[in-house]
Amino acid sequence: MFNKIRNWRIRRLVARRPIAEQLWQDALKHCVPAHRLGASDQATLRVLATLFLDRKSLEPTTGLHLDEADRVLLATHACVPILKLGYDWYDGWHSVIVYPDAFIPRREHMDAAGVVHQTNTVMAGEAWGRGPVILSWAHVLNIAKKPAHNVVIHEMAHKLDMLNGDANGFPPLHRRMDRRVWSRVFSSAWDRLRDEQRTGADLPLDPYALESPAEFFAVASEHFFEEPATLRQHLPDVYRQLAQFYRQHPL
Ligand SMILES: [Zn+2]
Repeated sequence: MFNKIRNWRIRRLVARRPIAEQLWQDALKHCVPAHRLGASDQATLRVLATLFLDRKSLEPTTGLHLDEADRVLLATHACVPILKLGYDWYDGWHSVIVYPDAFIPRREHMDAAGVVHQTNTVMAGEAWGRGPVILSWAHVLNIAKKPAHNVVIHEMAHKLDMLNGDANGFPPLHRRMDRRVWSRVFSSAWDRLRDEQRTGADLPLDPYALESPAEFFAVASEHFFEEPATLRQHLPDVYRQLAQFYRQHPL
């Protein structure tokens, strides 16, 4: 019954606030992971993007203006990871704050000696546990130009990771997945890439993946959706675990 009511609400919303056909076609054109989808999956992605636009508040800041096409594009990228998971996986938070370009979060932390430091790391995106996702619009527009990079998918992967606590590269796994296999696969991929990095070899993932297990999961997720064949070729076990987690059919 609950599902019936929920599905009826979703259908009503999609009927009331549909994404205009031209805007949808433009968003699909600029979202590489969507190119690989069949018509029925693209239709599901459109429903999810409609829900995203209805339920999340997209908040451009510092003089940035986002028009309807920009918003649809952002929502389309954002919903790629939950295509087979469902919208519920994005429940519990509300805002997407969008800066015109890379930003420096104003944040202070106290070190062990009790000294307060101001952080000055320049960022393209950030995701808070129960808070907002923060994005640089310049980096969102760059997605199409940089293969296997997708700042929106990256931050959304952090959001999924944080559904069961801190971002640690260990999102809530499905019942039939094995936590030990996940740990073993990701830690041995991590060790291998660390070794390759020391020898100066080109890595199959952006080296930022080696910042922490959370970043490894987020960067691997970008590759999984943007260039699945390359990820499968270089890190087949990681690819398989992500295919199970994101409930995607293997290539
Ligand atoms: Zn990250």
